[in-house]
Amino acid sequence: MTDRRRQIHPARPGLPDASGLGSRPRAVVVGAGIAGLAAATGLAERGVAVDLVERQQYLGGRVGGWTEHDGEGAPLPMNRGFHAFFRQYYNLRALLRRVDPKLRMLAAVEDYPLIDGAGRRDTFRGLPQTPPWNALAFALRSPTFRLADLARLDMRAAAPLAAVSVPEIYQRLDHVDADTFLKDINFPESARHLAFEVFSRSFFAEPAQLSAAELATMFHIYFLGSSEGLIFDVATANFDAGLWDPLAAHLGDLGVRVHLGTQVSGVDPVAAEGFTVHTDASERLDADAVVLALDVDGLRHVVDASPGLGDEPWRSRVSGLRTAPPFVVHRLWLDRPVGADRPAFLGTAGHEPLDNISVLERYEREAADWARRNRGSVVELHSYAARSESTAGAMAQLHALYPETAAARVRHERVLRRNDCPLFAPGTYQCRPAVVTPQPGLVLAGDGIRVDLPVALMERAATTGWLAANHLLGRWGLAGHRLCTVPTRGRSAVLRSLAAGRGRRP
Ligand SMILES: Cc1cc2nc3c(=O)[nH]c(=O)nc-3n(C[C@H](O)[C@H](O)[C@H](O)COP(=O)(O)OP(=O)(O)OC[C@H]3O[C@@H](n4cnc5c(N)ncnc54)[C@H](O)[C@@H]3O)c2cc1C
Repeated sequence: MTDRRRQIHPARPGLPDASGLGSRPRAVVVGAGIAGLAAATGLAERGVAVDLVERQQYLGGRVGGWTEHDGEGAPLPMNRGFHAFFRQYYNLRALLRRVDPKLRMLAAVEDYPLIDGAGRRDTFRGLPQTPPWNALAFALRSPTFRLADLARLDMRAAAPLAAVSVPEIYQRLDHVDADTFLKDINFPESARHLAFEVFSRSFFAEPAQLSAAELATMFHIYFLGSSEGLIFDVATANFDAGLWDPLAAHLGDLGVRVHLGTQVSGVDPVAAEGFTVHTDASERLDADAVVLALDVDGLRHVVDASPGLGDEPWRSRVSGLRTAPPFVVHRLWLDRPVGADRPAFLGTAGHEPLDNISVLERYEREAADWARRNRGSVVELHSYAARSESTAGAMAQLHALYPETAAARVRHERVLRRNDCPLFAPGTYQCRPAVVTPQPGLVLAGDGIRVDLPVALMERAATTGWLAANHLLGRWGLAGHRLCTVPTRGRSAVLRSLAAGRGRRP
């Protein structure tokens, strides 16, 4: 953490531990993705008795990892796909530091080039970290975004992008889609992929389906509002071994009961502000509080099956949540190595349907072992907003970009087709459910949950998880946990005043 202007959100004071209360509160956390793990940790560390219930057999949700086996029984470590852990993910890092104070489980990827359809490469290596110098240096050397383009930008219209304040940006721009916004500000056509590849595609949606306010918030978090830089870290081992097995041991030490392979089918409020949580194993868990830390479909199903929860306006907010289009993660174990100069991660634009290629043996222990033993490579292809069921298109793009793979034999492959990422469609911010619900003792967490802070993706999941825990801890008079974010408003006073008169919704 190097940004001296990062914002600390102090913890609410209170008792350090539930042992000081008359009786120990009980909470059920449903969903063991990052949001649920953060909530369970936050509650258990204050002495709350926690049951953590997860439908899958593994922890981590969309950042889950597990081991499959090849025909001969040899292990093939697998996970939900490449993830970039940015330096400004303060609250996620706070969670991981519980088990690894120096974060040795992560390692830096010094560069991640982006290649467009014309073969032009942008790179993030060696950029200054502090805005606006990072943006200027990037424009100076980019083959796709030149200084002349910067001069042609409609600075007044673009000002909200450089002077984002959260949550005000949602009043200004949530009604516009990201595609229209970039056209309106004269963002150069040739550089669109930079905005879309790095930011909007990370939301798994086409730019026309994404709120411009989310795009602007992403610019702020990763580029213009933070000086942590755009360089990210990756997990050095498969997600289960590297991240979640150690955290599960920590939760075990805190007395958390983890129920894997258990689906919650419904939650009933009971008298005196309590709950009964029903599972598909016909188990009943009684609790004083419930955290629903679910993906969009999971949350909709549980709320649908729990008619006693919340009020009608809140229930319709939940049922109005939508998922982004499906995406494909295709992992290949190849019988020969890719070229020595292939980066750990390459973002691709104009190579539909492919969005990125990662070469796992560059950073992940298990893949490096496999590649060494088999003199091969472990490669992963991601295709977001995928229109086709077939993997042929992405494979053809791999062969075109890395020709040495065309002759390689695929020794093993795994394909995951999923659609469990939230969609942030224009005009939906105000209708999204927030952490606090109208049902006392019931809170929500997850990357689809509205939070008025500059956080996104994994960091939104972690932040809402901590906030959910903090809300419940406050009800019991227990101390909360301190949070940290990038600054909640743009760094430049000049740009802020320019933006003040622009983009406000009529
Ligand atoms: C391919 C891919 C790449 C990504 N790359 C990045 C990246 O580089 N950087 C980044 O910041 N983010 C990235 N993300 C986004 C990131 O994975 C998510 O933002 C984050 O993991 C969401 O965590 P969560 O806890 O909110 O939800 P989830 O991880 O979805 O957790 C919800 C959990 O609830 C469980 N559940 C659902 N229903 C029930 C039920 N009825 N009972 C019990 N359990 C239930 C699910 O099984 C799941 O484990 C990526 C996502 C994907 C898919």
